[in-house]
Amino acid sequence: MQIEHFINQIDLTLDPPAEEPLRQYYFIAKARTLVAQMEKEAGRKMTFCVNTFGCQMNARDSEKLCGILNAIGYQESESEDADFVIYNTCTVRENANNKVYGRLGYLHGYKKKNPHMMIALCGCMMQEEKVVAKIKQSYRFVDLIFGTHNIFKFAELLVQSIENNKMVVDVWENTDQIVEQLPNERKFRFKSGVNIMFGCNNFCSYCIVPYVRGRERSREPREIIREIENFVADGVVEVMLLGQNVNSYGKNLDQPITFAQLLEQIEQIEGLERIRFMTSHPKDLSDELIAVMAKSKKICRHLHLPLQSGSSRLLKIMNRHYDKEQYLTLVEKIRAAMPDIALTTDIIVGFPGETEEDFEETMDVVRKVRYDSAFTFIYSKRTGTPAAKMEDQVPEDVVKVRFDRLLKEVQEIAAEKSAVLTGQIQDVLVESVNHQDDSLLTGRLGNNSVVHFPGSRELIGQIIPVRLDECKGFYYIGSRA
Ligand code: SF4
Repeated sequence: MQIEHFINQIDLTLDPPAEEPLRQYYFIAKARTLVAQMEKEAGRKMTFCVNTFGCQMNARDSEKLCGILNAIGYQESESEDADFVIYNTCTVRENANNKVYGRLGYLHGYKKKNPHMMIALCGCMMQEEKVVAKIKQSYRFVDLIFGTHNIFKFAELLVQSIENNKMVVDVWENTDQIVEQLPNERKFRFKSGVNIMFGCNNFCSYCIVPYVRGRERSREPREIIREIENFVADGVVEVMLLGQNVNSYGKNLDQPITFAQLLEQIEQIEGLERIRFMTSHPKDLSDELIAVMAKSKKICRHLHLPLQSGSSRLLKIMNRHYDKEQYLTLVEKIRAAMPDIALTTDIIVGFPGETEEDFEETMDVVRKVRYDSAFTFIYSKRTGTPAAKMEDQVPEDVVKVRFDRLLKEVQEIAAEKSAVLTGQIQDVLVESVNHQDDSLLTGRLGNNSVVHFPGSRELIGQIIPVRLDECKGFYYIGSRA
C-alpha cells in the first residue's frame, strides 16, 4: 500500500531522478500510463507471463520482474499467449539455448495476432555476445533484451521499448551496483529466496557462471536483515539464502563479515522459523559455519555440498580447490557436529578425460558419504568454458553406462536413508495441496524430505508436527500428529 501511494505521488512532468531506486519508481509510474493507454485501446486488461529457466537465482530474479510488472498494472497469466512475455534464460547447458530459440518461433506466431504483444529476453544467456547478435539478426520481433547485471532497470527499459517501438538492447558486462528495495512478487507467501550475494570468483573449468554473472558482490548485512524482517512481517517463515558460493559471503564488503556471522544475525529475527542456504562450496566451508549450524535452532539440518567428482585428479582439472580426502574429511567434521544432517550433492559424469578409475573414485565417495540425494549430470560441453576446449571428451556410450551405474547407487542409498525417519514425528512446513490428490497436503521436513498427508488447505504456510507413517522411497506418507 505504501509503495502504491508512493508511485501515485510521482510527478511525471519532471525529469527522471538520477538516483536508484527512485529512478525506477519514476519509470514504473510512467509505464503505468503507457499500459493504461494500451488497455484503453484493447478494451481489456494487459497480461504478462514470465517463463523462468535454470536455477534458484533466476527464480528469484523472476519474482522481481513479476513485482515490477504487477506494479505497472499488468496481470499475471499462465499462458504465453499474453501481452507481455519474458523469458528469463539460463545458459548452463548449451541445449538450453536451443530450446529458447525454438520457443521464440512460437511466440512470433502469437505476436503476429496481437498488436499489443511485447517479447523480452533476459538472464544469463543474454550475457553472451554471440546470442545477442543472433537474436538481433534472426529474431527481429523481440522487443527488449537485457542481462543479469541490470535487471533492476527493467521498468526503465520497458518504457524505452514501448516509446521507441523498436528493439532495445542493454546488456552490461559487469557491475558493482546492487539496487535494493524494488517491488517483487513472491511465489509463496510463507517462504522466499533472499539473494545475499551475486556472481562468482571461482572459475570452475566447466562453468559459465563467472562469465555471465560477473565477480562476487555481497549485499550489506543490514539490507539482507531488513528484507527478511519485511518478509517475516508479511507472513514468511522460511528463507533460502542464495548465492553461487555463500561460504565466501562478506569478504568484499567495506566491513567484512563471514557467512556464519550473517547467519547468527538472521537467526535473531523474531518470527522467522527456518533458514536454508545454497550453494556451499566445499573449499570455503569453515569450522565457524559448522559450529553456528550445530547450535542453531533455525538453520535446517540440510547441507547441499557439491562434490562434482570423487577423483582428486579431475577435481584439480575442474579447478575446484579441494581433493577427495579433503572433501571426505569435511563431511566427517560436519557429521560429527550434526549426526542428523541430510547431505545432498551435485555430481558430473563424463568430464573430459574421466577414466574408469576416476569414475570409481566418485562411486567410492558416494558409498562413503551416503548422500540423502544427489543431482547427477552428464557433462555437457559448454562453449566459452575452458573444459569445452579440452581434448579427451568421453564417448557418449561410456558416459551413459557410468551415469546409470551412479544413478542406481545414489538411488539405493537415498531410499535406505530416507526410510530411517519412518515412524517419527517431525515438524513440517505445509507448502501446497498435493498435485495428484487434493485431499492431501504436501510439506517439507527440515532435512528437505517431502511428506504427503491428509489435511485442509488452511494449514498451508504453517509448521506443524506430522507422523511419518510410511516411506515410499523418495517421499513419505504421513498423518497429523
Ligand atoms: S563455484 Fe564453480 S560451479 Fe559454482 S558458480 Fe562458481 S564457477 Fe560455477
